[in-house]
Amino acid sequence: MAVRTPLIAGNWKMNCNHLEALALVQKIAFALPEKYFDKVEVAVLPPFTDIRSVQTLIDGDKLKLVHGAQDLSPHDSGAYTGDVSGVMLAKLGCRYVVVGHSERREYHREDDALVNRKVQAAVKHGIVPILCVGENLEVREAGEHVAHTTRQVTAALEKVQSQHAQNLVIAYEPVWAIGTGRVASAADAQEVCAAIRETVATKYGEAIATSVRVLYGGSVKAKNVGEIVAEKDIDGALVGGASLDADEFAQLCAIA
Ligand code: PEP
Repeated sequence: MAVRTPLIAGNWKMNCNHLEALALVQKIAFALPEKYFDKVEVAVLPPFTDIRSVQTLIDGDKLKLVHGAQDLSPHDSGAYTGDVSGVMLAKLGCRYVVVGHSERREYHREDDALVNRKVQAAVKHGIVPILCVGENLEVREAGEHVAHTTRQVTAALEKVQSQHAQNLVIAYEPVWAIGTGRVASAADAQEVCAAIRETVATKYGEAIATSVRVLYGGSVKAKNVGEIVAEKDIDGALVGGASLDADEFAQLCAIA
């Protein structure tokens, strides 16, 4: 079985101006002892306006953190006011980009077809998509969560070639757990993450399914990350609120 390096990715959402971003990255790097960076990959995902500053700091101070973005356009360039392309993000050294976060699906009406185009745009430019999938409360209560989530995965990966699939990161983020303080139980998260891996295996084969990292996201904190990442098919976490507190985030990374 391939050894998957755990990934803890901090989604800052629409928080921190570029000066606050510099302070937060420095605090995280300072709070997390060097030795942990060999065991867990730590990514920060600031707003677009902070990326250049964060990149300069990480490169200049040779910090072991990596950085990424929270969204990208499906287009490379052109008359798309307000959008930011994969070409631009790649130039800023982004290793990751979040695609299909439930807040984008809800507030920007992003559907599976658009999410799929964004996944394709990311891999085209060598950026690893952190593909977010997950059900809302109604779907969970109807017992449809596994079918719903695996359907989202299948739709998002349409026309994505296997050479791009092997580095993929898929984050299972039940919508009812995001920013609510409600966390899926480790067993519930494992059930869906295993089904996600199985879906990848059906499409690309066992070897790729074993290399893909599946994260859990939804009110992850230092106090609950341990039991979640102990599950067989969970390779880390996508962290929202707790990624804005350097001490909490560093502690969470150390536990992971
Ligand atoms: C997220 O935004 O991806 C997230 C998981 O948020 P939170 O950790 O705040 O629930």
